[in-house]
Amino acid sequence: MSNYEIFVYSWIVIGFLSFPFILRYDAPYGRHTSKNWGPLVDNKIGWIVMELPALIVCPLIVFISDNPVSEITYFFIFLWIIHYFNRSVIFPLRIRTKKKKMPLLIATLAFFFNVINGLVNGIFFGNIKFDYSNSWLFSPEFIVGFIVFITGFIINNWSDSHLISLRKNNDSGYTIPKKGLFKYISCPNFFGEIIEWFGFAVMTWSVAGLAFFLWTFFNLVPRALSHHTWYKKTFPKYPKERKALFPFIL
Ligand code: NDP
Repeated sequence: MSNYEIFVYSWIVIGFLSFPFILRYDAPYGRHTSKNWGPLVDNKIGWIVMELPALIVCPLIVFISDNPVSEITYFFIFLWIIHYFNRSVIFPLRIRTKKKKMPLLIATLAFFFNVINGLVNGIFFGNIKFDYSNSWLFSPEFIVGFIVFITGFIINNWSDSHLISLRKNNDSGYTIPKKGLFKYISCPNFFGEIIEWFGFAVMTWSVAGLAFFLWTFFNLVPRALSHHTWYKKTFPKYPKERKALFPFIL
């Protein structure tokens, strides 16, 4: 087994082992923020700093690679950059979380998560499978994966935008979202993110994409369940038929 395989399979195993712990605790940021998790930092700055490694690490490894990286591989990195430019720069500037804070511990854990995820994917696309050929564009994996990726990207961004739009002026409270997929589930932004990285895993047919998809699932299923429980507790009139994350299922 190569060093890379040991690295990526260990990362996946750590994900599976962490899942029961992530399920047990409400990740303490946003509505679940708590002072019991140590010192707090500004929410917007936390988002920018903790997400930037993902924007930088993976593309940088690919761009400095000595290997003849193919155009299709660069295309995957282009999609990655679009997602992470939004997540690390645009999203934090748009959110209406003035005066809100998050635990430094959360920002630090997310920072290291993004470094490792960036390494897992950057090393893969820069040094392991850097030569996707043009014919890959016509493979069922690419076509299906790309459609799923774009669908997830649109759902994720539309839903995040809708949540952001619920707050007017300096308001920092919460209301029941009612539009789009919010009619069916409490967290379509997480649903979109999960299918987006599932699409990426299929489109690249890679262990790196699989690792990212699994970790996204492990992070966001528990958070969606926490949010759903919180909505039902906070709003007595919360729609009963609405599920947490997967329409009609969970
Ligand atoms: P949330 O849904 O908790 O919040 C998104 C934004 O909307 C926050 O600014 C939040 O404010 C605000 N908001 C949420 N619900 C309401 C409401 N009912 N009324 C008014 N405002 C609301 O998402 P996260 O902050 O957890 O995640 C943000 C993005 O990051 C998502 O797209 C998610 O998919 C992605 N992400 C990806 C992960 C991965 O592993 N790939 C892990 C974590 C997140 P406030 O912060 O004050 O609650």
